[in-house]
Amino acid sequence: MAAKKKTRPPEKTVPAAPPGNDFRLGEPYAPAPEATDHARIAPAYGLFINGAFVSAASGKRFPTVNPATEATLSEVSEAGPGDVDKAIAAARKAFGPWNRLKASERGKYLFRIARLLQERAREFAVIESMDGGKPIRESRDFDVPQAAAHFFYHGGWADKLAYAFPGRKIAPVGVAGQIIPWNFPLLMAAWKIAPALACGNTVVLKPAESTPLTALKLAELLADAGLPPGVVNIITGAGDTGAALVNHPGIDKIAFTGSTEVGKQIQRAVAATGKRHTLELGGKAAHIIFDDAPVDQAVEGIINGIFFNQGHVCCAGSRLLVQEGVAETIVAKLRRRMENLVLGDPLDKNTDIGAIHSRAQLERIEALVRAGVEEGACIHQSGQTLPAKGYWFRPTIFTETAQSHRINREEIFGPVLSVMTFRTPDEAIEKANNTPYGLSGGVWTDKGAKIFGVTGALRAGVLWANTFNKFDPASPFGGYKESGLGREGGLHGLAAYVNLSR
Ligand code: ADP
Repeated sequence: MAAKKKTRPPEKTVPAAPPGNDFRLGEPYAPAPEATDHARIAPAYGLFINGAFVSAASGKRFPTVNPATEATLSEVSEAGPGDVDKAIAAARKAFGPWNRLKASERGKYLFRIARLLQERAREFAVIESMDGGKPIRESRDFDVPQAAAHFFYHGGWADKLAYAFPGRKIAPVGVAGQIIPWNFPLLMAAWKIAPALACGNTVVLKPAESTPLTALKLAELLADAGLPPGVVNIITGAGDTGAALVNHPGIDKIAFTGSTEVGKQIQRAVAATGKRHTLELGGKAAHIIFDDAPVDQAVEGIINGIFFNQGHVCCAGSRLLVQEGVAETIVAKLRRRMENLVLGDPLDKNTDIGAIHSRAQLERIEALVRAGVEEGACIHQSGQTLPAKGYWFRPTIFTETAQSHRINREEIFGPVLSVMTFRTPDEAIEKANNTPYGLSGGVWTDKGAKIFGVTGALRAGVLWANTFNKFDPASPFGGYKESGLGREGGLHGLAAYVNLSR
């Protein structure tokens, strides 16, 4: 019998992107060289304004790079002041009809967005890991499901705001300008967009210049969800684009997540303008381990607290405070555990530590680690082989550190933990609070009373007990001191997007 001839399915021809980068939604585009079936990435993206992708007026574009391979994934448009103006005008025009829409209908859009995110979870996870370098296990199990959860949660609030703010007249703030960082690109977009829409606001969102791809994918998804044009506009660009958004008179509120330095600039820029603002900035969390803590669970909590997302986490547990009696045991176990972390390809589901986000971030981490060594701390690094290409940093633990060391004072934003010891709860509290930051903290102990006593005295907005880095859309997140102001998530997060009166 003659062998059955295998016939290949005919190759699909996809037309190249039209000149001028004016993609129309739904139009097939030639995939970028790094794109796969699981990550449909266009070679170039326009700005998402008024429900369509359009070129920046200047025609300027810049690349976004995969930090694990250094390959360019795509080029995105640089929005100038004219484009920012156009996006804000679209959001303003959409505001009235969106705000007048029956609240339960607004909620339905949020539910639809959440469901589409779940349906396309794999693609979002792959692109998130390619663009930012984080392990696929995290983008798959954390970033994307959490983003969907935020849309579900806020979809639920849309027609129940009267219960959130009983006895008050509730009005949306208006047009929200939202600026987000590169460490949780999709999730931060969800944190910002979901509460804004639930409360009847419209949005102009700017993702970080180095991780714009999942926000642009989200733009495609929003259009697929049938969200009315102009309700959410997504513009790409760097600091200048962000500053143009902040300074634009057509913005009623700024929601910013990023560095303390830029947060301060934004606060200065909005002073006396009447613009509402929330700022979620840096952190230097104390992770406190008492000698009655469940040791092995605490070790896992510490590892997760500092090495999650390569330590590119504002609430990372970067200062470990261990009670003297267990310090030796904890450090020995941490060092052993650190050796077993799998470092490498972010798209491998066994990877624990992915790529450092960018060359600039790698250099910053290296500089602070050098400072730690020079100031006399004792360094322990794991022995994994680093891939030849891309940006990588070995998980690192410093012992023998002092409060005055730069590694204990400055946010490293990398996989670097510094360890200090303490004898009494008061000493732990004093050391924990000895920082200009106040975002998060953690306490491990067997004693409930100690949990309440210590956390009550910690000046940090988010506190975990016998766990770390646990998130829920119902929990408000935000900081004190130089970690920012305002809260995101939960009732407190809703309050940032409404004007209340009697
Ligand atoms: P990081 O140091 O972690 O990159 P940044 O605070 O610089 O954090 O960036 C966070 C976000 O703020 C990014 O989207 C970035 O483009 C934006 N940004 C940077 N500078 C400014 C500025 N002066 N005004 C508004 N946004 C800015």
